[in-house]
Amino acid sequence: MNYYSLKHKAPTVSFSEAVVKGLAPDRGLYFPEKITPLDKNFFATIEGKSKLEIAYECIRQFVGNKIPPAQLKEILEDVLSFDFPVVPISDTISTLELFHGPTMAFKDVGARFMARCLGYFNQHNNKEVTVLVATSGDTGGAVAKGFLGVPGVNVVILYPDGKVSEIQERQLTTLGQNIKALKVQGTFDDCQAMVKKAFLDTDITATKKLTSANSINVARWLPQLLYFVFAYQQVKAQEKELVFSVPSGNFGNICAGIVAYKLGLPIDHFIASVNSNDTVVRYMNSKKYEPKPSVATISNAMDVGDPSNFIRIQQLFENNFKSLKEKFSAFSYDDVATRKAIIEIYKNYVYIADPHGAVGYLGLKEFGLKSNQLGIFLETAHPIKFRPTVEEALQVTLPIPDQIKGVLDKDKKFVSITNYEDLKADLLAG
Ligand SMILES: *Cc1c(COP(=O)(O)O)cnc(C)c1O
Repeated sequence: MNYYSLKHKAPTVSFSEAVVKGLAPDRGLYFPEKITPLDKNFFATIEGKSKLEIAYECIRQFVGNKIPPAQLKEILEDVLSFDFPVVPISDTISTLELFHGPTMAFKDVGARFMARCLGYFNQHNNKEVTVLVATSGDTGGAVAKGFLGVPGVNVVILYPDGKVSEIQERQLTTLGQNIKALKVQGTFDDCQAMVKKAFLDTDITATKKLTSANSINVARWLPQLLYFVFAYQQVKAQEKELVFSVPSGNFGNICAGIVAYKLGLPIDHFIASVNSNDTVVRYMNSKKYEPKPSVATISNAMDVGDPSNFIRIQQLFENNFKSLKEKFSAFSYDDVATRKAIIEIYKNYVYIADPHGAVGYLGLKEFGLKSNQLGIFLETAHPIKFRPTVEEALQVTLPIPDQIKGVLDKDKKFVSITNYEDLKADLLAG
């Protein structure tokens, strides 16, 4: 399997090169040359398969011969060492809980898979790789934890000052070792722009091998397709048409879901549920893609004004607006609506949703499910990560899970930076 650049001005590369490079030399996103649907029998007999069997069948075409089967299985087993339960909250609505990993947000799977692939590709390489990543909240912690102690890899995380939750900040600033946190006086968009600039800066690339661990990296992005397959395995017996509502920021997760659909997974409809950062919603209404600077919300991991992966979604629908519209809807909710939804879900169903999941729930409600449909919203993070918001809305005290206890009493270590020159100096010095 090879990958081509969506800007079409760079050579195609293998999986390993796409992972190591992150972005193509023409600044385009890598995209698989071909997606081969799985045998119908695979889905017909999915009940009897293990998580590992499912994962291996779904992922192997994207890795090709770059990692031998035994090693790929080992990586997948290690990456998928926790549960992905579908929890019913009413007759027609369920939630897919993706927060049972080490940092309690769905990004653990992609970050761990990428870390292990990069570790594998780098084992006979004496040049260190620097993973440079911007985070709107959860990527930082997942990447830090996923890459901690991986030999030959240094991680530099940029996060916007005051715009990530306290627990998110602790998760990315308390590990030390090969993980470094840079606190940026600015927004997530500023962080992302600085990362992009560094990739183009030949002063840096002459001496440093840089890669990205954002969902632009195929190893971060693609394994997320497994969530949708694992969910299908659990609800198949209900014999309903599936509608997934995915709380979306950079649109990597929902885009991976559409790849699962291309593999033959029966999914009726995709809903991208977003907060006030509504670039894609406006696009679906006007056919005009007009990115805006991101605004801060209580679902901060989705505060993205120019979602990188939307171009991949368009490609998956052959850049045909009509076919996109048939299969994909997008809805936006502000913080007032999100808080109300957290309360509604708790009052009606005794379920505590985090602000991102609550936005996903609202998307399902607005879509309007038919009687033969099951709506599944993705719970992309544990509510504890947004503790003040959730506790205030519900007037409850949330118990603190073990994964989180571990970071609460550790000291935060970060370097404050204000502009690109600061980042550059830091990268060249380190
Ligand atoms: C990252 C994140 C999202 C958005 O995911 P994308 O793949 O960027 O669309 C949603 N919810 C939570 C909790 C996240 O951490």
